Amino acid sequence: MARVYDAQTLQGIVDSIAERMVGEVERGVVANYIPELATVNLNQFGIAIVLANGEVICAGDAEVPFSIQSISKVLTLTLALERCGATLWQRVGREPSGDPFNSIIQLEYEKGVPRNPFINAGAIVTADVVLEGQKPDQAVDQILDLCRRAAGDDDIFVDQNVAKSEAQTGHRNRALAQFISAENNLRCTVEDTLSVYFRQCSIAMSCRQLAHLGRYLALGGQLAETDDAIITQERTRRILALMMTCGAYDASGDFAFRIGIPAKTGVGGGILGIVPGVASVAAWCPGLDNKGNSLLATRALDDLVRQAGWSLFTGDVHFSLEE
Ligand code: GLN
Repeated sequence: MARVYDAQTLQGIVDSIAERMVGEVERGVVANYIPELATVNLNQFGIAIVLANGEVICAGDAEVPFSIQSISKVLTLTLALERCGATLWQRVGREPSGDPFNSIIQLEYEKGVPRNPFINAGAIVTADVVLEGQKPDQAVDQILDLCRRAAGDDDIFVDQNVAKSEAQTGHRNRALAQFISAENNLRCTVEDTLSVYFRQCSIAMSCRQLAHLGRYLALGGQLAETDDAIITQERTRRILALMMTCGAYDASGDFAFRIGIPAKTGVGGGILGIVPGVASVAAWCPGLDNKGNSLLATRALDDLVRQAGWSLFTGDVHFSLEE
């Protein structure tokens, strides 16, 4: 099937998706293990697309900020790769875990080297890489700077209430970090590393801002406006591969099967999806399924990608099959 690239057709598609989502009764459940996230109104849905040429298409609550949570792990992976290149893979793996995002079970078997940078244990290691040699506040500023630069928007902040809520209830994350530290895979203290991790997860952004942010991943690491690069094309390719195989935790296989684009989900209900060379898409609806991924944002991406022919496994056929 031919891929859809024109903004007007896409606007029609996302308008009808947003309309349908308003009427959905089954909306999943908000992440209640972080008390501040449990206060978010379930009846919100937003979607935004930023095309490779910069055109923006939005529908629903696309301007409402929400907690990006694990989507921030893409940012720390970007910074950690820039910082230590391929040596990063000595400290964190790149295989899907097949376990829930906050699972501790593999850490012991695998001697404190987390399976991938997108489960919590792996993201704690990448936060530690970013933190090394500076103060936690500076590391958080560095993550926010990348976020603002990539999104082309200075109006992006950490939600301090969410950060506090995470710090107060983050017992599992503390257990993960302590274990990694016991295996000598943290360079900074557990509390400093977690103070970065909790704050990166608590960055608040709207779908529109998030879709802008993801554009560098759709453009091979480049910021189109300035010819400035956030990261090399080679590393962008690696990040996208990890998003495809590990971005939705133990639902990543199902996600690739249903949707077929690299994506990163977060327990705030957001999903960032990348169609390489074509578009960056952000969808948000706070209710989660039993794997911790947004029920309706997943469904919205499924609808959009199917209607736009954007699955990486669809593709236009460029040669004739005759003869
Ligand atoms: N801050 C959340 C946690 O550490 C992030 C998890 C997620 O979004 N999957 O549990």
